[in-house]
Amino acid sequence: MSKRILIAGGGYVGLYTALRLQRRLQRGEAEVTVVNPENFMVYRPLLPEVASGTLEPRHAVVPLRAVLKGTRFVAGRLTGVDAQRSVASVEPYAGPSLDLEYDELVLGLGAMSKLMPVPGLADCGIGFNSLAEAVYLRDHVLRRLEIASATADPELRRRALTFVFVGGGYTGVEALAELQDMAVDVLAGYPEIEATEMRWVLVEAMDRILTTVGEELAERAMRELAGRGIDIRLGTQLESAEGGLLQLSDGSKFEADTLVWVAGTRPQALVGELGLPVDERGRLVVDPTMRVEGTRNIWAAGDCAAVPDQEQGVSPPTAQHAVRQAEQLGDNLVADIRGRQAGPFRYRSRGEFVTLGKNKAVGEAFGRQLDGTLAWAARRAYYATQIPTWNRTIRVLGDWLVGMPYGHDVVDLGSREEPRGAFEEAAGR
Ligand SMILES: Cc1cc2nc3c(=O)[nH]c(=O)nc-3n(C[C@H](O)[C@H](O)[C@H](O)COP(=O)(O)OP(=O)(O)OC[C@H]3O[C@@H](n4cnc5c(N)ncnc54)[C@H](O)[C@@H]3O)c2cc1C
Repeated sequence: MSKRILIAGGGYVGLYTALRLQRRLQRGEAEVTVVNPENFMVYRPLLPEVASGTLEPRHAVVPLRAVLKGTRFVAGRLTGVDAQRSVASVEPYAGPSLDLEYDELVLGLGAMSKLMPVPGLADCGIGFNSLAEAVYLRDHVLRRLEIASATADPELRRRALTFVFVGGGYTGVEALAELQDMAVDVLAGYPEIEATEMRWVLVEAMDRILTTVGEELAERAMRELAGRGIDIRLGTQLESAEGGLLQLSDGSKFEADTLVWVAGTRPQALVGELGLPVDERGRLVVDPTMRVEGTRNIWAAGDCAAVPDQEQGVSPPTAQHAVRQAEQLGDNLVADIRGRQAGPFRYRSRGEFVTLGKNKAVGEAFGRQLDGTLAWAARRAYYATQIPTWNRTIRVLGDWLVGMPYGHDVVDLGSREEPRGAFEEAAGR
């Protein structure tokens, strides 16, 4: 009888597991269903470039229905799992909850921002994990330039032109570097603002940034950022953000309209509510084949799981690990269905890149360190060829090629957040 494989989460783990199954399963062997809140997969390493406008938001995602041929897609959210009965509850956009029975369940639910108990943070801060946040931040920064250029009030200007990022991991560094590069580039169109009025601050609790990349690479990135006037505060923490007044542990205090919290992630909250074993960081405990401990037919990988790694103890939360885990997971599901042994996850990282703006990056590939335009071009070539389907590759390359001779686009589409405003005004409300 055909097995029912249910994949919860349509990110790296969900998409690449489904693609692997699509390729390996024979007709009639299994029916695969993917459940994800949005009908696209976000290619998260491209989000910093969405924020700076060098990539169109739609080009940095993969449309799940278009790539998952022969796989059922359900737009909704997993809300619970009854492991005894092998039934998953899914909440669709509208209508009653669905009970989906499965023979094998894959959990690839990803991560969310990990907040600290900093007063005011939840009211003033924003994360940088989703497409919506990247698109919002771009418009938000451009709107701050408009605000500053339209007023002579020094306090208002200072507050609008102060951009603070807390967390010096690659997400924080890339997001800050891309947005600062964009803001500096478009400043020529704002004669009312002096470049020195803009203040970009990176706050990091540890004594170095980019702890997941080699020390030399991190040092190069630091030099590049510091050379651009970015104020990097190492060994420093955000202590309060009440009312937009930021207080740092080094004693400094200043107001800022922009506070981006990128000081870590944790598995989605739901993961801890499923009744499955989790470790001290809230990640699902799995064996080397990615089967959840104590279960027969539940598997997990990616940012929501602690996948054993022969080199680092537990795999780091990166896209390159999630893709390889998903491929092995797909193979393991096929093996399980065919009554064969599942294999362990094994992967050795081949390198990494950190984008720092247009023509600027640092990276390491096959043991070689790169920086500047070479690293930037290598990074782009890597992502353009990794994103699934030619359709996306061409759109991404197209955006980059068109953007090369021109500066960053200055259009602020922030009004998109209130699309009914004009209509309600017309209705006299
Ligand atoms: C800005 C940014 C830049 C990054 N840059 C890099 C990089 O340069 N290199 C690198 O290797 N890694 C990078 N990463 C990390 C990488 O993106 C993650 O490690 C990777 O996405 C993990 O894959 P995943 O499948 O576990 O989670 P995700 O890709 O996040 O997918 C999880 C999916 O589950 C869905 N989901 C959540 N809750 C539910 C639910 N209840 N029901 C159903 N679906 C649900 C989510 O909507 C999402 O689609 C970056 C991450 C970010 C945020």
